Amino acid sequence: MPDRLQADVVVVGAGIAGLVAARNLADAGKEVVVLEARDRVGGRVRNHEFVDGVVVELGGQWIGPGQLHMNKLASDLGLETFPTFDTGEHLLRFGEELLRSQGSMPRLGSLVLADLGQAWTALDRLAEHVPLDAPWEADGAEELDGQTLETWIVHNAMTGTARDLLRRFARSVFAAEPTELSLLHALFATHAGGGVDSITSITGGAQQDRFVGGSQVVPDALAERLGVRVRLHAPVRRIEEHGASVTVLADGFLASARRVVVAVPPALAARITYEPPLPGARDQLTQRLPAGSVIKCHALYETPFWREEGLSGRAASDAGPVGLTFDNSPPDGSRGVLVAFLEGADARRLGGARAEVRRHAVLGALAEYFGARAASPIDYVDLDWSDERWTRGCYGAHFPPGVWTQFGPALRQPVGRIHWAGTETATAWNGYMDGAAQSGERVAAEILAAPA
Ligand SMILES: Cc1cc2nc3c(=O)[nH]c(=O)nc-3n(C[C@H](O)[C@H](O)[C@H](O)COP(=O)(O)OP(=O)(O)OC[C@H]3O[C@@H](n4cnc5c(N)ncnc54)[C@H](O)[C@@H]3O)c2cc1C
Repeated sequence: MPDRLQADVVVVGAGIAGLVAARNLADAGKEVVVLEARDRVGGRVRNHEFVDGVVVELGGQWIGPGQLHMNKLASDLGLETFPTFDTGEHLLRFGEELLRSQGSMPRLGSLVLADLGQAWTALDRLAEHVPLDAPWEADGAEELDGQTLETWIVHNAMTGTARDLLRRFARSVFAAEPTELSLLHALFATHAGGGVDSITSITGGAQQDRFVGGSQVVPDALAERLGVRVRLHAPVRRIEEHGASVTVLADGFLASARRVVVAVPPALAARITYEPPLPGARDQLTQRLPAGSVIKCHALYETPFWREEGLSGRAASDAGPVGLTFDNSPPDGSRGVLVAFLEGADARRLGGARAEVRRHAVLGALAEYFGARAASPIDYVDLDWSDERWTRGCYGAHFPPGVWTQFGPALRQPVGRIHWAGTETATAWNGYMDGAAQSGERVAAEILAAPA
């Protein structure tokens, strides 16, 4: 017999979105139950401890100065951050060439730099005009949504190098190929992240700060405050609405409430059975919101040896398997850690590979950037988020062409007593932890303002 639970609100999913929603509702005096499928909280945020106690993050990790919700959350919870290592030259690999650069702009020819500069500016200007709460209402929305980001890149960047760097931007933000993304979606997400510079920079941008103890301290601290309200090992299978109440069926639990918050990625929200069935527009929306593909890898070294050579640890490449790296060493630099991202097509190519094959390919790529020492770490770990049963891809879901303009209004619209949260529903930093926190705050306010 399942355990019977009674609450004002049931929250499905104990990621940052679900936990923030639950905290705000509990603080407002509501009885809350959070049902989480995994054996841990945090969802796309998860720490890993290396053999000698160095903590790294397998999922979301950085926050930036423009991320108001996460910064406030960190301060409310009394959590400390430290700056990402950002000293020295970055590397950019193009074919056989390995270029060094001081700032974010590599030493490329003046034609390429001018081409890239005008394309970034054009993208930022277009993005500024996309309304964050209703991208489908942008001027020319149909036209913007009727093309892929790749089409725009080909028509707006003249040089092959600038095109490749724009494609790298797409992979690093969406973990998807620009051929898969609606231009309108790329513009929306760029605007939601404060523009290209804000999204791509370390200092002053989205990669500026890290959490002491790893980002999992955030969901852990929220869950600690919620205590027994959070139930683990409780995958929700079915949500039934009967008049003024909702019944939520999970493995081992049967919970009744006045309202329910579904705070899981769209693809997984679509795998829950709803009775009565959801309106067609909502179901058709979630049929069309795929997650990106990313494998995040960490290599642990005795020391951050690249620093001795004046390198920051940040590297990017126009070719796989490793498209992007950063220095992810602990704050005191007592050990060296390189984090490497395989995104979009690169993640798919190595996704099914045996663990040793993947490790060999990643370490080989790190050695091409940072020299032979990078091929022999003390320890190594990676995680393919597409294999994760309760995530099924990252960083977040993206909108392919036509979806915002045809189905956009169904994204946050509650269905009866069912409310939607999760980073994919955010109007600021959509796809990021900050977006998740914003969505949790928004959905809690929505419920508190709704009739009983
Ligand atoms: C590799 C990687 C790197 C990233 N880097 C960054 C970064 O540096 N900075 C940043 O801001 N963001 C980053 N992100 C994105 C960030 O982690 C996410 O945007 C954010 O954590 C999403 O939170 P959420 O609460 O919306 O969703 P989730 O974290 O996905 O939470 C959903 C929860 O619901 C649970 N669940 C799913 N289905 C069910 C069900 N049927 N019943 C019950 N529970 C269910 C899941 O187990 C999960 O715990 C990264 C993500 C990844 C994977």
